[in-house]
Amino acid sequence: MARYTGPACKLCRREGEKLFLKGERCFTTKCAFEARAYPPGEHGRTGQGRGDRASDYAKQLRAKQKARRMYGILERQFRRYFGVALQRRGLTGLNLLQTLELRLDNVIYRMGFAENRAQARQMVAHGHFTVNGRRTTIPSMLLRAGDVVEVREASRSRTLFKELPDFAEKRQCAMWLDRDVKKVSGRVLRLPERGEIDGNLSEQLIVEYYSR
Ligand code: SF4
Repeated sequence: MARYTGPACKLCRREGEKLFLKGERCFTTKCAFEARAYPPGEHGRTGQGRGDRASDYAKQLRAKQKARRMYGILERQFRRYFGVALQRRGLTGLNLLQTLELRLDNVIYRMGFAENRAQARQMVAHGHFTVNGRRTTIPSMLLRAGDVVEVREASRSRTLFKELPDFAEKRQCAMWLDRDVKKVSGRVLRLPERGEIDGNLSEQLIVEYYSR
């Protein structure tokens, strides 16, 4: 599946907030948003301050783009996820966020085994992880409660995975997941609740965007 390969920091600047797409760098003074907190492009500075004057459509579009960029998904797939959310019972907005959270690359990131979703995505694409004992190379794979994610036996001898327990020790694991840091493995316990998903996302605006 295709992915965005352009500069990550540009996306934060476009959305007007830090999306933490890079990992450690995002918490240092090297963060591009710290120095240039205005949209990229020739009219970036002058176009600022539209704030409350932005149209409803502009707000909906920005909410959708922000979520899409945070999870590293292109439009077509994001729209597909919306279709899946629409078909499920319950609140469409929450269904959509839960679907995004259950992507394999996001689960690995939420378990604290990767610095960011892009790294998690690459580790999966290179075949370093198994789901329920079966090797997979599909970062967009949607997991379910009870699914077990592990580093593949053949990958454990690699430096990256030898150092992963120490790395993961310093990072938090989401409450809806369980992990064994030493074994670099984990399990999906249940669906995430709204409070356990990024509070800055406006799912209602995303639903409005696709319901126009
Ligand atoms: Fe965004 Fe700053 Fe991280 Fe770049 S370094 S991705 S601007 S939060």
